[in-house]
Amino acid sequence: MKTQLHPTSRALPLIHALLLSLVFVLPSLVTCNPAAAAATKSQSFLPSQNKAKIWGIVPKLIDSSIPKHIIVMGGPASGKGTQCQKLADKYGLVHISSGDLLRQAVSSSEGGPTAPHISTIKQCMEAGKLIPDNLMTRLILDRLRSRDCQERGYILDGYPRTLAQAQSLQDAGISPDVFLLLNVRDEDAIKRVIGRRTDSKTGHVYHLEYNPPPNDTEIMKRLIIRSDDTVDSMKVRLKQFRANVASVENWYREIKREVDGSSSPSEVSRDIDATLKQMRKRKQRV
Ligand code: AMP
Repeated sequence: MKTQLHPTSRALPLIHALLLSLVFVLPSLVTCNPAAAAATKSQSFLPSQNKAKIWGIVPKLIDSSIPKHIIVMGGPASGKGTQCQKLADKYGLVHISSGDLLRQAVSSSEGGPTAPHISTIKQCMEAGKLIPDNLMTRLILDRLRSRDCQERGYILDGYPRTLAQAQSLQDAGISPDVFLLLNVRDEDAIKRVIGRRTDSKTGHVYHLEYNPPPNDTEIMKRLIIRSDDTVDSMKVRLKQFRANVASVENWYREIKREVDGSSSPSEVSRDIDATLKQMRKRKQRV
């Protein structure tokens, strides 16, 4: 049986959508400052969510059960890429992986003349060394200032890695809601790196032992080993991580949360979820 709606009821979703765009979308168009955008979102969140439930137009971006501006730090092979992607998929946040941005920059320059900054990136990555702060920061800020990050929020995966990078974020007016530190022992990280394989088409990351790829010949043919996933490079990466982590975590001490990254991906994901939800609750109570 078809329900007859009163004409006013039919017009309401349209009016609501219009109001939502005034309250929610317009402010993010006129500001390039994520901190300001975040403030706008938190002010308008509760009424929007209630209205969205009523009208059935809930986009993921209004789900504010977790904070929307997240930094994840962890050593090499701590599982941060996997966990960040899970969070991004679940909550509609933009996943910005500093390592992926660099790999994309390198692969998109292949076949043409190599710009000096691309050679620098390639050499540093292969040796397991950090890319110079100014180069890295420029790449990240460009990405953070794009409209999707302003509107949906972001997860920064692998940046900042040094105190100077953390300071640059602050100088650019970007203040995260939470800093998550993923802890994994060095010996476990080395084991993880040795079996790591990436699908060159989808970017999906497998581990030959802990998370084996499906038995599909096409996928098997596409699997590659990252050029920096060698034991030598790993030792340098772990050393750099240990040298920098204390100063970065201290910089974010007021918003820092630690998660044990050594269990299975789904267990780690559950802990991260619980941690983030707890933080959001505390923030709402304050
Ligand atoms: P990841 O994919 O996060 O393991 O990063 C791979 C490599 O990219 C690192 O070993 C560094 O050479 C480089 N890299 C990624 N993020 C940064 C960063 N924030 N600062 C400097 N170098 C970075």
